[in-house]
Amino acid sequence: MPIATVNPATGETLRTYDALGEEEIERRLAAADTAFRTHRTTTFAERALRMHKAADLLDAECQDIARVMTTEMGKPITQARAEAAKCAKAMRWYADHAEELLADEEPDARDVKDSGASWVIVRYRPLGPVLAVMPWNFPLWQVVRFAAPALMAGNVGLLKHASNVPGTALFLEDLFRRAGFAEGCFQTLLIGSGAVERVLRDPRVRAATLTGSEPAGRSVASIAGDEIKKTVLELGGSDPYIVMPSAELDRAAETAVTARVQNNGQSCIAAKRFIVHTDVFDAFAERFTAGMKALRVGDPMAEETEVGPLSSERGRADLAELVDDAVGAGATVLCGGTRPDGPGWYYPPTVLTGITPRMRIHHEEAFGPVATLYRAADLDEAVAIANDSPFGLGSDVWTHNGTEVDRFVQDLEAGGVFINGMTASHPAFPFGGVKRSGYGRELSGHGIREFCNITTVWHG
Ligand code: NAP
Repeated sequence: MPIATVNPATGETLRTYDALGEEEIERRLAAADTAFRTHRTTTFAERALRMHKAADLLDAECQDIARVMTTEMGKPITQARAEAAKCAKAMRWYADHAEELLADEEPDARDVKDSGASWVIVRYRPLGPVLAVMPWNFPLWQVVRFAAPALMAGNVGLLKHASNVPGTALFLEDLFRRAGFAEGCFQTLLIGSGAVERVLRDPRVRAATLTGSEPAGRSVASIAGDEIKKTVLELGGSDPYIVMPSAELDRAAETAVTARVQNNGQSCIAAKRFIVHTDVFDAFAERFTAGMKALRVGDPMAEETEVGPLSSERGRADLAELVDDAVGAGATVLCGGTRPDGPGWYYPPTVLTGITPRMRIHHEEAFGPVATLYRAADLDEAVAIANDSPFGLGSDVWTHNGTEVDRFVQDLEAGGVFINGMTASHPAFPFGGVKRSGYGRELSGHGIREFCNITTVWHG
């Protein structure tokens, strides 16, 4: 894949970039290694000052970076601005909380005595340069949710961003430099995925985090495993959205539309499979389909647009194949389902029902504005359908019945259960999945501790 900015709304290539050569990669690895030696010794207060500055710059430049993101991957401009604002918030959250999250811990005094020590502490020390392999779908947020905790913990970052968002990747490098982080603390490596192995095997790189597809995760985790390096993987998702009879149907249907089409439907935590109790199935299906049909699809730069194009021609072809496969195997199309003619990689909001396990879409992630509707006879069947997926990222449940809530929280195989709302990330809450959605957690105290050397200090 060439490293290039290609506008998904028109298909026009706006700029191409040369990938870094071996000499340049080496220079950057050396710079990361050197920067780490100093950055690790800075105080939390010094790091926080820079992180706050980065957040202020981001707020001030929100319009500009939003336009870059929309041009590179097609998200509606209003959502691009919201993404930039969310990043600034996460930066401030880690700037304000990192010291407390990484404070020394004292084990129980009885255990200290039992070990024969006069005192023991557990200290969180940084690991070193961490490689971040990131996707294009939230081109700023995916990086910031790694970079803010990593830099605050005293690590330094090497970003290999997706090849279609080089402008956003270079902006991030520049942002952290202008915020006062020393040269080498956060660098963008303009490299293709083929060069990731060389960087990951370098002994100066201590760990890796990857957000992206399952094949990419498998490759990076295998190489890191061979090198005995820690990884965090945030992979795909096919989140269930369960609606039970006690749900407020209007709100559930309205939120369902947003949960499915946010970011043009290309979100790992988008609700993708809508599992509705038979008593309210028809009423929900009618409201949800009407909401999907009413969406304003068009130029992502326009303020009123709710759904823009998919990020790439390949992405649209993959989505269309999934829909065609389901329809060929007997699925019913309630709306959408046909690729439009004309420029840009648009795909209409689509609702399918009559899904069976023989259809690919039952097991695979639909990365675009396509929803599948399932009818469940009761709570047991709703849970069974929800868990019949290789993924386990988020899950949404609509009910006002406390017993049902307990059961869903106990049984849904997912890294999050959102009740009467849609899955969303927040800096203070852990984020991640189980099964093929990956492992490890980002955000919160759990996220910042993933790339720390948890050191036991024992004093006799
Ligand atoms: P992708 O193809 O896996 O790309 C993600 C990143 O991995 C890019 O930087 C890509 O570089 C790189 N990459 C691809 N193959 C690689 C390999 N074999 N070795 C090393 N690096 C490799 O994913 P995508 O299609 O862009 O993104 C969509 C996927 O990401 C979806 O499955 C989505 O659910 C998932 N996602 C997950 C989360 C989460 O938090 N769980 C969040 C967002 C997205 P190139 O661009 O150069 O190929």
